[in-house]
Amino acid sequence: MRTQPPIFPAETTFRGPGGEELQLHLPEPAAVEVTDAGMEWRLTILRGATDPAELARVRAELDTARSTIEAQGLGITSCDQELRRREDGLQSKDAKIASLRAQVKTELAAGYLNGKWHDQPDGYSPAGCYRWLRGVQTKVGWHSVIWNPWNTPKHSFLGWIWVHDALKTKSKLLQFGVTDDADCMLCGLGIETQEHLFFDCPYSRRVIHAINQVMGGILATHDMLERSMQHPGSQVQKRVLYALLVCLVYQIWQQRNRYRVDMQVLRPEKLSSLIMQEIRARIRSRDLTLVKQDDVDWLHSLNLL
Ligand SMILES: [Zn+2]
Repeated sequence: MRTQPPIFPAETTFRGPGGEELQLHLPEPAAVEVTDAGMEWRLTILRGATDPAELARVRAELDTARSTIEAQGLGITSCDQELRRREDGLQSKDAKIASLRAQVKTELAAGYLNGKWHDQPDGYSPAGCYRWLRGVQTKVGWHSVIWNPWNTPKHSFLGWIWVHDALKTKSKLLQFGVTDDADCMLCGLGIETQEHLFFDCPYSRRVIHAINQVMGGILATHDMLERSMQHPGSQVQKRVLYALLVCLVYQIWQQRNRYRVDMQVLRPEKLSSLIMQEIRARIRSRDLTLVKQDDVDWLHSLNLL
């Protein structure tokens, strides 16, 4: 039968191998081993049992251990192995925590100047520490375009890949040796780069033209990302413009992929209607109670509300 390690509260009395009583005053609940050979007491204290979960477990085992011991009169057989296993486990946990603490202290040491956290005159704060660890970061120009709250999230995600020039266009695939040519699948007239596909391709230009006809020429006809970032309109106008731009990129990319799979694409005019439908639905789903009257009028004039 496997013997449970006996664990006692800080103050306890029990009988040893010879029936004699032993009063214990321990600093914490402890495991005690008593050998019966040679009437010898050997005490092993379970060190490091200081975290609440471990103490709760230790206390839960106390009753079982005590009743077992009392029932047996002497009751304690060798439990070296179990005790060692537990002690090793606790010690290695303590050592791990100590090592992590030392590592954090070393990493953060450079953040202290003259006894103060360097950019926090009032002392340390987790937020200040995080800023310091992250370092100085410059805000990219396209941030407002891609993370515009009026964008549809899936458009923002693809847009984020687009601004990093990371979409796998055929010009990229050709470099990787995955395809034989880099011809644009929508027109067959140019090399399929991001710039060509979204803005220079005759197909895309027809989509942009159709959108501009109903949106009063809001989309630029060249350098579209840069010009969108410099748009002088109100915040609402910018949000609509940015949402349109990322929706345009998303939908043209969808058409390009659709052609690749089943060799079909929507007519440019049909695609522009689809884009406008998405933009309208997105704007109408927003809470517009704080939008200024001028902007509401503008949205009405373009049939977006
Ligand atoms: Zn093309």
